[in-house]
Amino acid sequence: MRISRSTGRPYLCRGPETEVPTETIWSSIMKTAIAVLGIGRMGSALARALIRADFDVRVWNRTADKCAPLAALGATATATVRDAVANSDIILVNVSDYDATRSLLRRDDVAPLLTGKLIVELTSGTPKGAREASSWAGSQNASYLDGAILATPDYIGTDAGTILVSGPASLFHDNPAFFRALGGNVQHVGDDPGRANAMDSSVLSLMWGSLFGALQSIAICKAEAIPLPDLATQWTATAPVIEGLVSDLIGRTGQGRFAADADSLSTIAPHFSAFQHLCELVNSHGVDPGLVNAYDAVFRRAIAAGQEQDDFAAMSLHLARPA
Ligand code: NAP
Repeated sequence: MRISRSTGRPYLCRGPETEVPTETIWSSIMKTAIAVLGIGRMGSALARALIRADFDVRVWNRTADKCAPLAALGATATATVRDAVANSDIILVNVSDYDATRSLLRRDDVAPLLTGKLIVELTSGTPKGAREASSWAGSQNASYLDGAILATPDYIGTDAGTILVSGPASLFHDNPAFFRALGGNVQHVGDDPGRANAMDSSVLSLMWGSLFGALQSIAICKAEAIPLPDLATQWTATAPVIEGLVSDLIGRTGQGRFAADADSLSTIAPHFSAFQHLCELVNSHGVDPGLVNAYDAVFRRAIAAGQEQDDFAAMSLHLARPA
């Protein structure tokens, strides 16, 4: 070992022109090695975030050339899943579905290598799929966390990047740097490995409600020759009102406060009346009535149950299909 004249720091000396600072060597020895399996749009963003955070990243993708940009950033592109998994501590999977994950990990040349490692499954799936995968990982003596990404790839690695993670809390808390690298809002949501996927579908239900509602709004505006920028202006103006209604609905439903009271924002009756105007408009303009028909059926079940004068939250009692 020598002391650098310029920095005063110790150097290991491998030869006259290859002096390497000891701390560089030490940190590379200590780096957590992560295999990222699946380098699609999301997998690429996850791998990039881990490279930026200075992890030792190995990447594998079925279509190998998608790994090239990550190799250029410092990742090791591997030819096989086995190569990626063999020397890694954490196996992060992000492919199209759990069947694809199964086809990658449940192979005789890969499964034995998972023993003692942590699998982090960030592929979208169902609660049932996550619980089954967790139990399979346990049978291989591997640890397992399941995650649901509530973000698009551009959010990954940013402070606003949200990922829900479920499975044993200790596994999550033992790997803070790994999860922090993926986003500033990566949260552990429960020990049940299925919790993240359940929460994901629940949040996405709200998203699709909004997106399909938006599609219907657009169809009505087109039919009525209203310029779409005017619609956008009104959406912006009403967004806080709608957000308030959703929060109120969640609060009241959680507390079982279905009878109208002084704090009620609205009962079912005025909602139903205004909703009939939408139904008429949709039908008269030839807009697909599938969405409004589904909503109408829930309204009518609540009204048939005599709940017209109850708070709108009482609708939550009628969403389940009748037996
Ligand atoms: P994508 O760009 O289509 O990438 C899909 C990835 O899965 C590719 O790497 C693909 O490999 C791989 N794959 C598919 N079938 C496979 C198989 N049988 N064996 C091996 N690899 C296979 O999709 P993405 O947007 O990255 O989405 C990936 C996951 O992230 C999905 O579960 C998605 O729901 C979730 N997610 C995505 C977003 C988003 O905004 N994109 C947001 C939240 C969650 P090839 O390249 O060889 O086809």
